[in-house]
Amino acid sequence: MTQLRNFALGAEIDEELYLHMTNPDGRKALGAALLQSCFSEAGQKALREQSGIHGEAFQYSLVLESAAHTQKAGEAIFPEKYKAAARNQGFRRSIVSHYDHRCAFCRTRIVTSEGHTAVDAAHIVPWSISKNDDIRNGMALCKLCHWGFDEGLMGVSDNYAVIVSKQVAQKHNSADAVLDCANKKMHGPDDKELWPYRPYLASHRDRHREKFRA
Ligand SMILES: [Zn+2]
Repeated sequence: MTQLRNFALGAEIDEELYLHMTNPDGRKALGAALLQSCFSEAGQKALREQSGIHGEAFQYSLVLESAAHTQKAGEAIFPEKYKAAARNQGFRRSIVSHYDHRCAFCRTRIVTSEGHTAVDAAHIVPWSISKNDDIRNGMALCKLCHWGFDEGLMGVSDNYAVIVSKQVAQKHNSADAVLDCANKKMHGPDDKELWPYRPYLASHRDRHREKFRA
């Protein structure tokens, strides 16, 4: 869009085209015509796959949303029929929107004009161990805080205060951005029911107890 704005002041949509765009069948037909006329066969295949994954990811995020409100916390939420790519994208979509693109620890929020965001969707109990995409097993974290959390240098207490390992403050480090988070309340979703489940946070502290003690 940024590049497009350099070349065009605006555009007008043909009235008949607009009518086709206002109904689902018309949009489908237009999409198919664009694919066939503008892309190679390999490109068409890749785009169809990608659009299938987007659709599946959206469905998956709705399933996660509903499960987090109807299923007790503490049981893994992992609807099996979804492809890994759709699952990753759906979990990310849920977490990032509930945290409004803001890092739960340092509160950084950057969204570019292309819609890129500074935060990742981090699992509290890693996916490899838990197979659990419950929204309450996730947090939005910027790249630095995500790394700090996975390394066990940052964690969260039972009253949702950010804990920073003393290792971070060692003389050879320069880590004010991380140290500034210490003992401050983390940022969480507006919906209180979707805040991280405390036993998951406790299991993260337990896995990294050496670093938090250090
Ligand atoms: Zn951060």
